[in-house]
Amino acid sequence: MNGIRGVALRGTQAMAVEVEVEITGGLFSITVVGLPDTAVKEARERVRAALRGTGITLKGRIAINLAPADLPKEGALLDLPMAVGLARAAGRVECDGHATFMGELALDGRLRWVRGAVPAAVLARELKAPLYVPKDNEMEVSLVDGVEAYAVDTLVDLIAHLKGEKPIPRVEHGICEARDFAVETDFADIKGQFAAKRALEIAAAGHHNLLMSGSPGSGKTLLARALKGILPPLSDEEMMEVLLVRSTAGLPFEPGRVRPFRSAHHTASSVAICGGGASMRPGEVSLADRGVLFLDEFPEFSRDVLESLRQPLEDGTITVSRAIGSVTYPARVLLVTACNPCPCGYSGDPAEPCRCSQGALERYRRKLSGPILDRIDLHVAVPRLSPEELVSLGGACGEASSDVRARVEAARKLQQERWKDMGYHCNAELPEKILRRHIKMESDVRPFLAETVKGLRLSGRGFSRILRVARTVADLEGAASIGVHHVAESLSYREGAAFGGSGWAH
Ligand SMILES: [Zn+2]
Repeated sequence: MNGIRGVALRGTQAMAVEVEVEITGGLFSITVVGLPDTAVKEARERVRAALRGTGITLKGRIAINLAPADLPKEGALLDLPMAVGLARAAGRVECDGHATFMGELALDGRLRWVRGAVPAAVLARELKAPLYVPKDNEMEVSLVDGVEAYAVDTLVDLIAHLKGEKPIPRVEHGICEARDFAVETDFADIKGQFAAKRALEIAAAGHHNLLMSGSPGSGKTLLARALKGILPPLSDEEMMEVLLVRSTAGLPFEPGRVRPFRSAHHTASSVAICGGGASMRPGEVSLADRGVLFLDEFPEFSRDVLESLRQPLEDGTITVSRAIGSVTYPARVLLVTACNPCPCGYSGDPAEPCRCSQGALERYRRKLSGPILDRIDLHVAVPRLSPEELVSLGGACGEASSDVRARVEAARKLQQERWKDMGYHCNAELPEKILRRHIKMESDVRPFLAETVKGLRLSGRGFSRILRVARTVADLEGAASIGVHHVAESLSYREGAAFGGSGWAH
């Protein structure tokens, strides 16, 4: 490349941008081709001021071309390659087109943190080219194995480095230890709620989406947050994916292997949840990638938002379309939803009476049906503890998250081993035909299931969900085939069971 290499972001990928600079005689002017107008104006001022700080005063007619022209670019990421290109055109530094530069310049020449340094590092590694990033991006870039990166404080430092006067040391490869796993909300700190904790354990083990129903103050949010403490730590590959999404979204670096947890409010826009918008960033469903997405007050979410969550729940990705083209972000989430049992919130509460009419109850439950509900395998009631229960429980909180996590990890291994030849990772992914043909059952299970389907009037899909969950319950026990007691437990989490066990059809 003749020019200087910068980057633009497309999804979680960095694309190379060539910055070509030409200076000719005449009155001073700078034109930039290939950037939106507003970004050009700002970038021009920053670059000019920062160069002045290094003793380079720009003269003549300057033309900067950013290629390819059809790739949407962000001004701030390209400040640094533009400054280097100008310094080279002014004859102040030598620099071939091999290295990649990224960073926003402050007027005094300091480099500011930018989004997208991790994708840029991945690109630089592919190109086998050195990468120059702002000092504040050093930590995240250090986790990209095999990249030759340099963290730069100021433009003056960079120019001294390029001239060979004062070399900047190469960024050392950082390691994120498997033990970097801190549990914020431990199961052992949550009183009672044994049924809900068990449902969370099953959700974590088989990657089953979950609906919790309970009165305000019953602790649904706390329970949802505790879920990330029982999920297995992120693998190297998963951690890199999480890092890429965070970097693309412009979120600060967070070390560790705990899975992401994001909660979205029902008033959040579709862009906030799914991604996109003018600056094309990932949404909450992508920020929760490889972790948990929590939707409280689930029935209040708009149909549009719920409809758009179908793709991520099925494929583990989300595609956002805009005029400039479409972009796909990773979005493999464990979905946890929560709702009140009824509009007033107190149906089934030990202390408060429910004030809802039968009609209001029915309307509320109808709102809960819909596209996403088919993807939710587990339903559980989270009742508020009565004062008597709180007293009788005393200090009884049950197991610590680390003990539960050990069972979850063992159950996940069994599933990976069993389904790997068919291309599945966990029980929740199993389609109906696989379930019917490949699930081993003890001899007394089939007659029991036949009776149950008839008695509870289970739909075909409802039946599949029961089988998937029963398989996970059996995996948590290390059992090779499903027994009647696994199915019986699975039935207690069926759709509608969270609302007093009556179940409802739709
Ligand atoms: Zn009510």
